[in-house]
Amino acid sequence: MRCVVCGLPVEPDGRYPLCAGCAGPLLDEALESAGLAPPSGRASARCPVCGKAAFSEIGPCMRCRTAGYRFDSALPLLRYSGDARAALLSYKAGRTSLASFFAGALAAALSERFAGRAVVPVPPRPGKIRRDGWDQVERVAGILERRYGIVVVRVLRRAGGPQQKSLGLEARAANMRGAVSLRRGATSPLEPVLLDDVLTTGATLSACADALKAAGAARVDALVIAAD
Ligand SMILES: [Zn+2]
Ligand SMILES: [Zn+2]
Repeated sequence: MRCVVCGLPVEPDGRYPLCAGCAGPLLDEALESAGLAPPSGRASARCPVCGKAAFSEIGPCMRCRTAGYRFDSALPLLRYSGDARAALLSYKAGRTSLASFFAGALAAALSERFAGRAVVPVPPRPGKIRRDGWDQVERVAGILERRYGIVVVRVLRRAGGPQQKSLGLEARAANMRGAVSLRRGATSPLEPVLLDDVLTTGATLSACADALKAAGAARVDALVIAAD
């Protein structure tokens, strides 16, 4: 097995295709983002709403000031660039065993920041599992549940519509409005933590949070592997 980032051989007993030299810094960055490691300066100032690097801004970033997001906060563990981006792209392309690496970092962040709260995975687009055979968010959620004993509730469903990535920012938000709803007969946890892989515009998380709040959630935070 070779490392998906640098191509070097991975230790034979490795659970996932990342070498120690590539996994270490990613894990350090994730633990720092979760407040589990002292600030190293690697993670810059962050927007308190979406968690993205906020450069010199104070308070919410420009987008969050006007976006009207329905989630209360989002915590990305990694910046979606460099090695993190390479690992995530490889994961999405089918290296499913990387789920084990991401789940480890997410479990640590959950216990530090959102202890005892139920996790709600962002649901895949209709037809995705039939098409791809798996879903990257669900794969991680399953490991959180089985290996780390985290409560995962799959209460959201998603309607069809144009592919998000083919749309601009405004169109994404409009496309997502009403596109997520609760499964029939499901109820929302009081303070769910949404789980997604990559945060881009926040439109999907916002639509999910909206559905959960309409179903009684008092507060909805989000934990994501990476944000661009
Ligand atoms: Zn490597
Ligand atoms: Zn923001």
